Amino acid sequence: MLQLLPQGYFTDHYGIKMSQSDNSLKLVLVIDDDQTAHLWAKRYLSAAGFAMVSALNGHEGIEAFKKHTPDIVLVDIDMPVMNGFVTCAAIRALPTGKNTPLLMITGTEDAERVASSYLAGATDFVVKPINWKVLIHRLHYMIKASSLLQQLEKSEMRLSKAQQMAKLGHWEWYFFENNKIYLSDEVFAIFHVNKESFIPSLVNLKAIIHEADREYVQMSFEIVIQNKMPLMIEYRIITQTGQQYFVGQQIDTIQTSNHELLGLTGTIQDITERKDNENKIKHLAYYDDITGLPNRTFFLELLSNSIKLAKRNERNFAVLFLDLDNFKGVNDSYGHHIGDRLLKEVSNRLTAGLRSSDIASRYVNTQSLGTDIARLGGDEFIILLSELTYPEDAAYAADHIQQWIRDPILIDTQQVYIGSSVGIAIYPQDGEDTETLLKNADIAMYHAKKIGKGHYQFFHDSMNVKAQKRRKMENFMYQAVENNELRLYYQPIVSAKSRQLIGAEALMRWQSPQLGFLPPDDFISLAEDNGLIIKFGEWAIREVCRQHKQWQQQGMGHLTIAVNLSGLQFNQPNFIPMVEAILAEYEITHPDFLIFELTESVIMADTERMFNKLWQLKSIGIKLSVDDFGTGYSSLSYLKSFPLDSLKIDRSFIKDLPHNGDDVAIVQTILALAGTLNLSTVAEGVETSVQRDFLENSTCNSIQGYLFSKPIPIIEFNQYWKLSLIQDI
Ligand code: C2E
Ligand code: CA
Ligand code: CA
Repeated sequence: MLQLLPQGYFTDHYGIKMSQSDNSLKLVLVIDDDQTAHLWAKRYLSAAGFAMVSALNGHEGIEAFKKHTPDIVLVDIDMPVMNGFVTCAAIRALPTGKNTPLLMITGTEDAERVASSYLAGATDFVVKPINWKVLIHRLHYMIKASSLLQQLEKSEMRLSKAQQMAKLGHWEWYFFENNKIYLSDEVFAIFHVNKESFIPSLVNLKAIIHEADREYVQMSFEIVIQNKMPLMIEYRIITQTGQQYFVGQQIDTIQTSNHELLGLTGTIQDITERKDNENKIKHLAYYDDITGLPNRTFFLELLSNSIKLAKRNERNFAVLFLDLDNFKGVNDSYGHHIGDRLLKEVSNRLTAGLRSSDIASRYVNTQSLGTDIARLGGDEFIILLSELTYPEDAAYAADHIQQWIRDPILIDTQQVYIGSSVGIAIYPQDGEDTETLLKNADIAMYHAKKIGKGHYQFFHDSMNVKAQKRRKMENFMYQAVENNELRLYYQPIVSAKSRQLIGAEALMRWQSPQLGFLPPDDFISLAEDNGLIIKFGEWAIREVCRQHKQWQQQGMGHLTIAVNLSGLQFNQPNFIPMVEAILAEYEITHPDFLIFELTESVIMADTERMFNKLWQLKSIGIKLSVDDFGTGYSSLSYLKSFPLDSLKIDRSFIKDLPHNGDDVAIVQTILALAGTLNLSTVAEGVETSVQRDFLENSTCNSIQGYLFSKPIPIIEFNQYWKLSLIQDI
C-alpha cells in the first residue's frame, strides 16, 4: 500500500498529472525510508512548483511508479529489504520506466556506489545531506533534457516514416531544355509558395535561401556536379512573409549510362522541428567554455529559482553585476589569448574567494558554490548573494570581491592590473523578476562606472546611504566591548509540562552612546562581516558564566543558560581553549548549565571538523543545541552522529500552529524522531495559548516565547524568577 506523508496530503495531486505540456505540474516520486526526507522534499518541491508522491520502500516505489508515471524519480540507496539499486533496476525494467530520469540519493560518495548507481540505470546521483536549492535546478534540468530527447526521438521517427511514405518534396533539374526545373507539390508547400504563380527558376529559388546560406548551397551543388556524387545538406530558407525554416536537402545526379551528366535531382524536407529541438539541447549546454562558470542561460534559471525560493521564505538576496574596468584595453594590447586567461583567473579568484573568505561565505551556501557565480558574456560576471540579513551587507561582499580582482594578475610573464565596477540590485525592492533585477543591477553598475572605476553602487540610492551608515556603525563597533556597551537580555524558557522556569536564552543588545539601543538584528551580521563577532561572542560566554556564578549565590544555579554562537566564532582554531579558559577563570567545574546554540547550517558546513569539535565540547560537559531547526538542509538521521542534546524548532513552524496542517505534521515528526534519537526539544516563538496548549499536549519538552516573556534585562529576569516561585506555591 502506498503511504503518503503527511497523511492524505498529496491526494489532491493525483488528478493533476493529466497533461504532458510544459506548464503542467511535474511529478516527482520520492522513494526513501527516512520520513524526514519526505518532509523536506515536500517543503522544497512544492515551493518550487512540483507535485510529489512519496513511497517509503522499494516495493511501494515501484507500485507508485506504475500508477502515476512520474516525470522524475528520487531513490535513496540505503533502504531496508529492497535497496535503491534494486528499485532503480526494477523501474527501468517497466515498460514506462525506460526514459524517466532517475536520481539516486547516497549517504557517501564512494566510487563503487556511484558505479553501481549507473549500472542499475540511474541517470545521476546526489549526496546527502541534500541541498534542495541546488537539487531543484538539477531536477528542472533533467526533466527538460529528458523530454527534449523524447521529442527528438519522436521527430526522427516521423522523418523516417515520412520517407517511407515518400512524402518528401522531390525535384529535378535538367541542364538541357533551358535549365528546366521540375518541383513536386510538396516542394511548393515546403517553400511556402503558390504553385500557380511561382516560377521555379534558379534565380527565384536562390532568393528563397537565407542570405547567409546561399554560398554554402551553391558550393554544395558545384561539388555534386564536379564529383558526380550525392550529397546531403541542411540550410535555412526565408519565406515571402519573412518566416525562417530549416530544410534538409539531398542532391543527386541524373546521368546517362556512359556517365554523362544530364542534371540533378533530389529530395527536400522541412526539418525545422528537429532543428529547434537540437538547438534547445545545445542551449542546455549550461556552462561557459572559457571559465567553466554557469552561462547566461543557466544563470537565468538559477535566478528565477532563487526568486521563487526567496518569495516563499520572504528573504532578500542580492544580484551583483560585475564588469571589469578596461578589459578592452587588455584585449587590445595583449591579445585575446591573454584576455581569455584573464577572464579565467578572475573567475578562479571569485570562486576561491567566495569559498574561503569568512565574510562572503556567509552569503553563499557552500554546497551550491559554483552556481552562485556566472559569466554573462564578455567581461561581465554575476554573483548571487543569498542569506542576506540586510541588503546593505552586499556592500561588504562587493568590497571584498573588488579587492580580490585588484591584486595584480600574472599571466606568463605579464603583470596585468584590472579593476572592476559592481552594480547591486536587491530582490524584491529592485525587481521581482529576472529581467528587471538583471537590468537594474546593470544600471547600477553603469552608475558605479560613472563615479569613477573601481566602485560599487546599489541600484537604489537609499541603499547607498544605508551602506554608508553601516560603515559608520562599524567605526563605533570596534570599541563596544572595551567601553562596556554590550548587554545580555534573558528570555525565560519553561517546561512544557509543568510550566516551571527551567532556564533562559541569553540574547545580545548593544547600548551605543552614538547610535542608541540596538537589537542584534541591527549589528550581528555586520559583526560577522568584520570579524568582531569573535570578540562579542567571547564576551557573551564570559558574561553568562559570570551570571551563572551570581545565580548560584542567589539559589538560581540550576537554571540553564543558552548562548548563541556564530559559525565564524565557533570555527576559530582557539575556540575550545578560549571556552576552557573562561570556565577556569570562574572556577566552573560542572558547566552543564551552559548550552551552546548553533544553527544547522553551521553544523552541516564542515561535518568532519564539526564532529571533532562537538565531541570535545561534550567531553567538557557543555550542552549543544541546534538553533532554528528545520530551516537548514539536514535530516534528523544525519544529525544522529553528532553529540547533540536538543533541537530548537524554528519559530516559522510554530507560528501557524495548530491551524496549518503541514506545520502540525512537521512539528510532530520532528518531535517523534527527536524522541527516538534521545534529543530534547524546545519550541521557539510561542506567542499564543493555543500554540502552548498544542505543545503541552505533544512530547515537546520546553517552550520559549513572548507568551511567557520577551527577552528582558537581568534585573527583570530575577524578578520573573521570584514571581514564578510564588505562582508555583
Ligand atoms: P535566535 O537565536 O533565533 O533568537 C530568538 C529570537 O526570537 C530573539 O530575537 C527573540 O527575541 C525572538 N523571539 C523569542 N520569542 C519570540 C516570540 O514569541 N515571537 C517573536 N516574534 N520573536 C520571538 P533577538 O533577541 O532579536 O535575536 C535575534 C537573533 O540574533 C537571534 O536569533 C540570534 O541569531 C542572534 N543573536 C542574539 N544574540 C546573539 C549572540 O550573543 N551571539 C550571536 N552570535 N548571535 C546572537
Ligand atoms: Ca538562539
Ligand atoms: Ca532560534
